Amino acid sequence: MFEDNDVSASKSKPRPAYVRMMEAVQRGAVTGVVVWDVDRLTRTPRELEDVIDFADRVGLRLASVGGDIDLGTEQGRMMARMKGTVARYEIEQSRRRLRAKHVELAASGRHNGPRPFGWDFREDRSLAINPAEAAVIRECVDRVLAGEGIWKICRDLNDRGILTSTGRPWVPQVLRRMVLRWRNCGVRTHNGKEAGEGQWEAVVDRETHERVVALLTDPARRSNNRGTAPKYLLTSVARCGECGKYVVGTNEHTYKLKSGRTRTFLHAYKCPHAGCMKVQRNMAEVDELVSGVVVGVLERNGVRLLGGDPVAAAQARDRVNALEAKLALAADQYAEDVITGDQMKRISERLRPQLEAERGRLMQSQPDPALASFTGADVAEAWERADVEVRKRIIRTLGMEVSIERVGSGNGRTFDPESVCISWADTREPDTQRSQ
Ligand SMILES: [Zn+2]
Repeated sequence: MFEDNDVSASKSKPRPAYVRMMEAVQRGAVTGVVVWDVDRLTRTPRELEDVIDFADRVGLRLASVGGDIDLGTEQGRMMARMKGTVARYEIEQSRRRLRAKHVELAASGRHNGPRPFGWDFREDRSLAINPAEAAVIRECVDRVLAGEGIWKICRDLNDRGILTSTGRPWVPQVLRRMVLRWRNCGVRTHNGKEAGEGQWEAVVDRETHERVVALLTDPARRSNNRGTAPKYLLTSVARCGECGKYVVGTNEHTYKLKSGRTRTFLHAYKCPHAGCMKVQRNMAEVDELVSGVVVGVLERNGVRLLGGDPVAAAQARDRVNALEAKLALAADQYAEDVITGDQMKRISERLRPQLEAERGRLMQSQPDPALASFTGADVAEAWERADVEVRKRIIRTLGMEVSIERVGSGNGRTFDPESVCISWADTREPDTQRSQ
């Protein structure tokens, strides 16, 4: 029994069981095939010709529930070919109809799809401005143009109880998409391209919208290219949820498909380890999520978290002093010929790493004056201004651990904040939370 039930014959997905079955036919292990209908067996005329070939060579008998087809006879083959052609034609027709319908809708400038934030449906499903939501769009646009971070605006909207058109709280990627919609300035798009004037009232003017697009899609905003400075926020920080190794950042790149169309891959975090490579996630969205959590934590506990730990600092300082005293003693004993050069070397080799470790602990437990601006009420602004290097230092100081989990089914295009796990290396952050 070879089952490919979920895979429609019309799609170009692989059909593993079909491949295995044809291999079995080739080996001679299978001499007859029973299918629901011939058009369920082969997806292209070419596959059908393969089946006919096999039928000739190994005497394969083909039966369909809808009536036997004997591929050994001329008439049987004709029937199979006809059925295949008809099935193919129907698939192509329905695709063409659907495409034509979308093109027609786009050209008419009519809205297609669920209710967009900012407008309500009239009875004929045309769009009428929703004044309260339109005011929110204008406010978001103004704040973005003033340089405010998306995730900050997002939190503010949620604090004020403003919900999306589907009645959910805002998340940064949804808000970002919302302010980037060409619909806002009355333009109807189709497949990401401008298709004409939309049959609805614009909320912002076109020039303003173009500025928003330019600002939010500016690559300089996302990455920070300054020679050897780190480029990505979470490299050497975030780990692959499958194998536990650090993820790497990948550049935005455009890939040309065989069909001649191009596909652009945005910046991403990705597990680079051969044997795993199971995790990949949109960088901007992961960064935005982590930034939101960091700012939230610093706003509540920044003084304590970045202000150092006096108890730990005192303990580390004592241990540093003790180790330095031991080393000094060994040096004295060597100078006085109490110990040999070999003994001196062994003592020193044992104590030096301990000393380095304690010095590290002392550094970590002391307040870092460079991070003082990340403790007040203006954490969000300070974070927005900081470069990647400083942001990374803060994440490390906080002992934040990020793990990017593998996501199961789905097309992988919608970002699930739950798939990014945030935890804390020690207990300094008491109200541990996964996301904002
Ligand atoms: Zn991995």
